[in-house]
Amino acid sequence: MIEDRNTYKLLTPGPLTTTPTVKEAMLIDRCTWDKDYNDITQDIRARLLKLAHADNGDYTTVLMQGSGTFGVESVLTSIPSKDDVVLVLVNGAYSKRMLEILTYQEVKFEKLEFAYNEIPDAAQVAEFLDEHPEITIISMVHSETTSGLLNNIEAIGKIAKERNLLFIVDAMSSFGGVDINVPELGIDFIVSSANKCIQGVPGFSFVVANKKALEQSCGNARSLSLDLYAQYLTMEKDGGKWRFTSPTHVVAAFHQALIELDKEGGINERHTRYQSCNKALREGMQALGFKPYIKDEDQGPIITTFFYPEGFKVNFHEMHQYLKEHGYVIYPGKLTDAEIFRLGNIGEIYPEDVTKIVALFKAYVEKVNG
Ligand SMILES: *Cc1c(COP(=O)(O)O)cnc(C)c1O
Repeated sequence: MIEDRNTYKLLTPGPLTTTPTVKEAMLIDRCTWDKDYNDITQDIRARLLKLAHADNGDYTTVLMQGSGTFGVESVLTSIPSKDDVVLVLVNGAYSKRMLEILTYQEVKFEKLEFAYNEIPDAAQVAEFLDEHPEITIISMVHSETTSGLLNNIEAIGKIAKERNLLFIVDAMSSFGGVDINVPELGIDFIVSSANKCIQGVPGFSFVVANKKALEQSCGNARSLSLDLYAQYLTMEKDGGKWRFTSPTHVVAAFHQALIELDKEGGINERHTRYQSCNKALREGMQALGFKPYIKDEDQGPIITTFFYPEGFKVNFHEMHQYLKEHGYVIYPGKLTDAEIFRLGNIGEIYPEDVTKIVALFKAYVEKVNG
């Protein structure tokens, strides 16, 4: 095994700290038209379908070059026809980004906005749909990485199913770390990327897609390179071939990361690790006076937003530097109206890390408060 050259661990929700063996998978240069390489792509597609509980023949997986946003943009600009109207449920920066994508490509949409620390209310969504019968697609984020909140995709999926609407979910920072039964929840397109809960390195995104809905979207794409249907067609016809140059090293690393997810015990075991680290982190930080922004029942297991303790002399960069020198890199906040910061706990983070992190914050608070 190669040596671990990391001098600090990332408490950022992607890129995150990966294992030496995931990094080691990138030491081989692979050829994009070689069968060995395309077989890796095919195995990734099959494994992702299984993780989504979608290996029933009705679903397929499409991999797409670029970061997570490229995957979301690919779905939102390839699936809706000129007549479709997308309803976006907004309660964070990532659902806001969906609106930007739809605006750029002139896809028709409506939005229903909620506070950033509030879960979209299903009754309100149903009422809005009653008033807007032109809506054909619902799009939302599962784990809002902006705040750390976990949205209720079960309740919204039920509404989508009842009304026969397509349902698009950005599960970027939850897929692989939270069990999601894609067919059961009525999800037609779920998007995530290589560098989140599966714990690979950045470079591509993936979509688990309802085959029928994907096939019906043929000809709707507004972009050549992000054409989801065209990418699907090539991967199917050519046995795992991507249309344009694929990130070969990233793909190999991701394949290794999937094997390691399996070894850890699958999504349920990983979820348990994330959940216990997140709980210990929130409890430890709260004891030091750092209050979480999201209330316990809505908090997801991936990332937590914290307020600073009362009277604390806030200097994010200084705090960041101090923690980095001691082995951990933290994440700035993404809310405009409050002094906050975020701690992610996905990647190679274990309970012993949490103990160390909380002790470091304690030492830092004592240092700052004299
Ligand atoms: C990470 C993330 C994305 C994608 O961001 P990229 O920077 O494009 O990888 C999208 N949605 C959510 C909820 C995310 O956490």
